[in-house]
Amino acid sequence: MSGRGAGGEGGVGGVGFAAGDGPVPEDLVPDGGVRDGGEDVEAGDGGVPDGAVPEDLVPDGGVCDGGDLAVRLKGYEGRAATVGGVGKDPVNAPMIRHWCEAMGDTSPAYDGPDAVAPPTMLQAWTMGGLGGHPGRAGAYDELLRLLDGAGYTSVVATDCEQEYLRPLRPGDEITFDAVIESVSDRKTTKLGTGYFLTTRMDIRAGGELAGTHRFRILKYVPAHRNPKGPTGAKSGPSRPRPVINRDNAGFWEGVERHRLLIQRCTACGTLRFPWLPGCGACGCLDWDTVESGGEGTVYSYVVMHHPPFPAFDPPYAVALIELTEGVRIVSNVVGVPHDKVRIGMPVRLEFQRYDEELELPVFRAEGDPGGDDPGRSAARPRDGSVRPAASSAGRPGEGS
Ligand SMILES: [Zn+2]
Repeated sequence: MSGRGAGGEGGVGGVGFAAGDGPVPEDLVPDGGVRDGGEDVEAGDGGVPDGAVPEDLVPDGGVCDGGDLAVRLKGYEGRAATVGGVGKDPVNAPMIRHWCEAMGDTSPAYDGPDAVAPPTMLQAWTMGGLGGHPGRAGAYDELLRLLDGAGYTSVVATDCEQEYLRPLRPGDEITFDAVIESVSDRKTTKLGTGYFLTTRMDIRAGGELAGTHRFRILKYVPAHRNPKGPTGAKSGPSRPRPVINRDNAGFWEGVERHRLLIQRCTACGTLRFPWLPGCGACGCLDWDTVESGGEGTVYSYVVMHHPPFPAFDPPYAVALIELTEGVRIVSNVVGVPHDKVRIGMPVRLEFQRYDEELELPVFRAEGDPGGDDPGRSAARPRDGSVRPAASSAGRPGEGS
């Protein structure tokens, strides 16, 4: 796991996932890097021309959809996804306060007797929680099942658009309806081939339209279904590849050279990690980098037992490491049994090779924490030494 771990396939549990304001990967934007496969679907007899879908995109035992599926999918446009939804709670000050604390938003508009709710909380007032919503109509679930049945089994939330028509205030009672606004033509993206589904939710306060929330997902057949992995040379599943884009490419170039690079705003000097296009403190877009000395402590951690992911061997510790420079990075702690990882534990950077393509920064527990789990002993330093950070030559042979 890395600080910029892949959030793609399987990373999104479902439609309720809030994509928020985060950047949309370029390869998911329909107008950008996506090749439009729609004309194939609608051409001629409605069938898919030979070769339109690479063989490795057709799931085992699945069907290669033709025009019939496209027509059926289009039939869901305009159908209700939620009817007569009622917010589980009225707009209220405690939820607003929790949101503002989580977001670090200290605007005075959200506090005091004349408080309004942050507009971006719009979806929060409609969420069904663990119990779900009784108003959910069958059409959307049916649409998802139809795509699942045709082999488009993976889902990723791509983007969300909101419009705000009036402020929400504590005490406002929320009702909402949602409609399947559009089903795209079949698109091919770097993740795989599939369909973008857009739902639009109209959110009302006291019966008056307060805002709309458009939510888009891609239901797709994952690319790279080759069980031998991307290189075809290894047996067994390989670790997920990092998503490298123009905003974080410099970080991964640093990893290649065994350097952990932290972005620094050239205007105000604020360090930031993970890599982002702009400074969160002053908004400046110009930056340079500083190299981490590689020392840090465990700021927080979880031990992963479930669910099992291919290429990962639970239980293992995933830690938030606070570097001496002050920024934090999500990584694995190695050289110590998973149940001996502790908050405050000193750790040191090293680079671990997982296969011929993938090397990741990990953090080795400093000293001997006294663990004696024989099953994890292979993760300890073989020579007992603590490796230097930036000059580490890696661990030849390990993991390959
Ligand atoms: Zn700055």
